[in-house]
Amino acid sequence: MHIAGFVKTALREWEGENACAILLSGCNFRCPYCNRPDLMFPSGESIGAEPILDYIKENRDFLEAVVISGGEPTVNGDLYKLIGRIKGLKVKVKLDTNGSNPDMLDDLAGAKLVDRVCMNVMAPLDPETYSKAAGVCVDTETIKRSLKVLRDSGIPYDIRTVAVPGIITHDSFVRMLRDLDGSENMIIQQFDNRAVTGPYAGTKPYPEATLAEMAGTAKGCFRKVKIRGI
Ligand code: SF4
Repeated sequence: MHIAGFVKTALREWEGENACAILLSGCNFRCPYCNRPDLMFPSGESIGAEPILDYIKENRDFLEAVVISGGEPTVNGDLYKLIGRIKGLKVKVKLDTNGSNPDMLDDLAGAKLVDRVCMNVMAPLDPETYSKAAGVCVDTETIKRSLKVLRDSGIPYDIRTVAVPGIITHDSFVRMLRDLDGSENMIIQQFDNRAVTGPYAGTKPYPEATLAEMAGTAKGCFRKVKIRGI
């Protein structure tokens, strides 16, 4: 496991919780609009898990939660072990994932090792559109299985979609909503092109009014719809 970053005060990652965040390197997707291309592959020295666990232990009086993000955390076979150790310190854990590993998600949920999940859904769940959005060939049945795991788990979860112009159009958004209907919460995330190095580097984000329209369209499919800025 390669730990690329540790954020002691993660203000936005888990609303309502005093959280820190662990950023893991490595991802099995190659989204052409990725705003963390530095986390796609492990590079540089890994931060050891021990100093992070020590920090959590020492700050348990105010620290309530840990967000595990990336990259894609579930590409790490030893994620289960790391989360187990964090949970042993009596703090809550939220996992950010692209939903490509339903088996691991199921194991983590079954063992009650995660208290919240945020799953990124990139596009409507047909293989061609999804693979274009993810930059690799994706068997969308795995994504659908992850959604089912979340719906059946009883764990609170958010579906997060980055509103990338050219990927999330009005049509693709409506098709995506049909695939996601009945999910819990949706976060429509503004596209942040500041660190994008691929073909979407020059793509301008949608104006706020477009995100508000999307949120209006999504109402009714979700319990709650939120727009998140950069
Ligand atoms: S899943 Fe996330 S980290 Fe991986 S390439 Fe896509 S946007 Fe980047």
